[in-house]
Amino acid sequence: MPELPEVENLRIGLEREIKGQKILSAEVRLPKLVSGTGNKRKASGAKAAEFIKGVVGKKIIEIDRRAKNLIFKLSDGSAILVHLKMSGQFVYKSSKRGATVEGGHFPNHAKGGQIEISRSTLPNKHSHIIFKLSNGTLFYNDTRTFGYLIYYKNLSTLYASETLKNLGPEPLGKEFTLEHFESALKSKKKNLKSALLGQEIVVGLGNIYVDEVCFISGVNPSRITNTLKAYEIKRIHDAIKKILPHAIKLGGSSVATYMLLDESRGNFAREHKVYGKAGNPCVNCQRPLLKKTLAGRSTVYCKNCQK
Ligand SMILES: [Zn+2]
Repeated sequence: MPELPEVENLRIGLEREIKGQKILSAEVRLPKLVSGTGNKRKASGAKAAEFIKGVVGKKIIEIDRRAKNLIFKLSDGSAILVHLKMSGQFVYKSSKRGATVEGGHFPNHAKGGQIEISRSTLPNKHSHIIFKLSNGTLFYNDTRTFGYLIYYKNLSTLYASETLKNLGPEPLGKEFTLEHFESALKSKKKNLKSALLGQEIVVGLGNIYVDEVCFISGVNPSRITNTLKAYEIKRIHDAIKKILPHAIKLGGSSVATYMLLDESRGNFAREHKVYGKAGNPCVNCQRPLLKKTLAGRSTVYCKNCQK
């Protein structure tokens, strides 16, 4: 599932490519992925019709992100909330034939190089929603179809929605202070892994970045949060603040189906120290990394370096 660095990279790409464009049409090939009522999605042609009616003719004025959600703000104050879940993707194809964009904005491309906007033939069988925009086409592809797009008539209902209302602070925002983090962790009695995955104490971290953060901070992900020492909490807080901007800069972690808007892949996966590396030697102590299930998720850690 795309986590904060991956969603943020998509947001940056979307801002650059589609901001200011008008939605000329929206084709919904899989109605269960959309809702036009601001409520939870439901498989229904009527909701798809409402969604289409809501978005068509509007200009996209901003693309925002909250936790792992994207928010397309539209010209009349309405908005589309997007959650990519396991395998949602956006790919943008400019209508200018052979059009290229400056590659320097995406850090994983050579600076100043030229990249093609789209490399594959679209739509394909996983292109479930297709937006025709003033200057190109935006495809929403989703192989496992757990993602969703919901139309909200105004932003206040969107921010008060079930998806957003209980979210904790953004890890790169001012609200995510060490004091907040410490008191939130101390007030819980769960293992560190599930506390960090939970999206209440801090948002945006999923399985990849939680394992990486725990490793970098030298704390075992099984630790119960109210037993963590102040210096350990500070190390975890520092690791979150350090790893996320670095991963964003490298285009995120391309594992499974995640890719950037131009179908290129993020480069942070090559810097993973533990995620997906069970059995490999630890980069610090060379002992084999262990794997276990925590919070229902596969977790990789070094028993020697993480206490
Ligand atoms: Zn180690």
